[in-house]
Amino acid sequence: MELATWTYEGPPHVGAIRIAASMDGIHLVLHAPQGDTYADLLFTMIERRKTRPPVTYTTFQARDLSGDTAEIFKTACTDAAERFSPDVLLVGASCTAELIQDDPGGLAKTLGLAMPAVPLELPSYQKKENWGAAETFYRLVRACAGSERRDRPESAQRVCNILGPSSLGFRNRDDIEEVKKLLDLLGVEVNVIAPLGASARDLMRLPDAGFNIVLYPEIAGSAAKWLARIHGQELVTIVPIGVGATRDFIADVARVAGVDPQPALAAGERLSWYSRSIDSNYLTGKRVFIFGDATHAIAAARIADEELGFKVCGLGTYTRELARDVRIAAAQYGVEALITDDHLAVEDAIFAAQPELVLGTQMERHVAKRLRIACAVISSPVHVQDFPARYSPQMGLEGANVIFDSWVHPLMMGLEEHLLQMFRDDFEFNDETQASHLAAVAPKGYGTAAVDGPEPVSTHQDIKLQAAPEALAWTEAAEKELKKIPFFVRGKARRNTESFAVERGVNPITIETLYDAKAHFGR
Ligand code: SF4
Repeated sequence: MELATWTYEGPPHVGAIRIAASMDGIHLVLHAPQGDTYADLLFTMIERRKTRPPVTYTTFQARDLSGDTAEIFKTACTDAAERFSPDVLLVGASCTAELIQDDPGGLAKTLGLAMPAVPLELPSYQKKENWGAAETFYRLVRACAGSERRDRPESAQRVCNILGPSSLGFRNRDDIEEVKKLLDLLGVEVNVIAPLGASARDLMRLPDAGFNIVLYPEIAGSAAKWLARIHGQELVTIVPIGVGATRDFIADVARVAGVDPQPALAAGERLSWYSRSIDSNYLTGKRVFIFGDATHAIAAARIADEELGFKVCGLGTYTRELARDVRIAAAQYGVEALITDDHLAVEDAIFAAQPELVLGTQMERHVAKRLRIACAVISSPVHVQDFPARYSPQMGLEGANVIFDSWVHPLMMGLEEHLLQMFRDDFEFNDETQASHLAAVAPKGYGTAAVDGPEPVSTHQDIKLQAAPEALAWTEAAEKELKKIPFFVRGKARRNTESFAVERGVNPITIETLYDAKAHFGR
């Protein structure tokens, strides 16, 4: 058992639904208890899909458990096959149905359906949503693309598939457009984009392309590796998020396709100049904590470090399957990777790192709000506002522009930050209030402490501090002195001073302790 208030990923069958919902002519029959249809809302509300996802739930109830649940599954299968007549039927079980062991695959086989049924093994108690999506996509690709290697004309080397974009994927809709633009500049043709928008017939055509571009390894990694092994298709695995990564992506596609990278390399974006322009000077060295799925977290760390001049003070992921990649990336920035799906561990790590900016998922946005740290969302899981109506890719050249704006926006603007350090007693623009350019969307007091309120503290840490046997005290003068430190580094100063005081058995903390700690940590 594990206590969990928030989970970064749903169960693996939600991943399976994502693949079915991404594609045309695929239907999923899910053996699941009454109530599991909640998953529909992810698609119809968060993604604002106009139609129900193509899933038939068996919705068995408690009283059915004493009867024949296998019969319920078989009836649901036959009905779905008749009513929707899909090209391929996926069959699987949710967590509760896994326990009753009805074997959806075996049962579907006995029905003599008019279409192929692809069975899904979704171990709900060991694996999660992205794994479920990857496994479902892999099974479908295997079933449709066939295991016989085909001959390809030489010209196929300039033809690629784009693998990974899916329903409920963070900004996937617009990322595809950006990647297509780059491929267009390179003169590379797109054969199939899958799973998003693809049909079973499209999956059958996958082996016709010379190579595969894996945009989201969490979803398409295993299918792409299988295609490489069975159909000899080369892989491009560089994810084009950020200017540097986009340029590397262009170079790699050009190498594999045997084309000239220059036309695509010559196309510009605005991030490079914006981040070099004088107004971005104050961004240099800002401490940033990054957490998300592995792909987006690794990409964000590179942009933060190489393109915006931030200091990466924390990097982590909930994607255990790609933990190794995140560890390697974290080592480059001199931090230890945080591999966890426990949001409280992430909250603790953010609190300890005292960043000035958090780049994370919806969960980190909640944590950052409590800690009053600026935050931008870079990865799923996300709420409805991160499926925007406007064009907002993360990938490619326009993606870099979008990233520059959305990461810098939550930070205090340079001039205001400077003025606050000089005139901190202003009744309106004091350092206990939010950045003034955000006040228009958040009224004063919303998400901020009252002027005389306590330092921001996480509720989780709050509980821990309350439980501490002996609380540290600050003299009034020391508290006053602490307030002279700019608000965005004050938290760190407080923590350092307190740990310095605890180590030396000093209590209460005086102005001298504050300066001794500063000298100690400044060494
Ligand atoms: S089957 Fe799984 S997802 Fe569905 S209600 Fe039970 S625990 Fe939740």
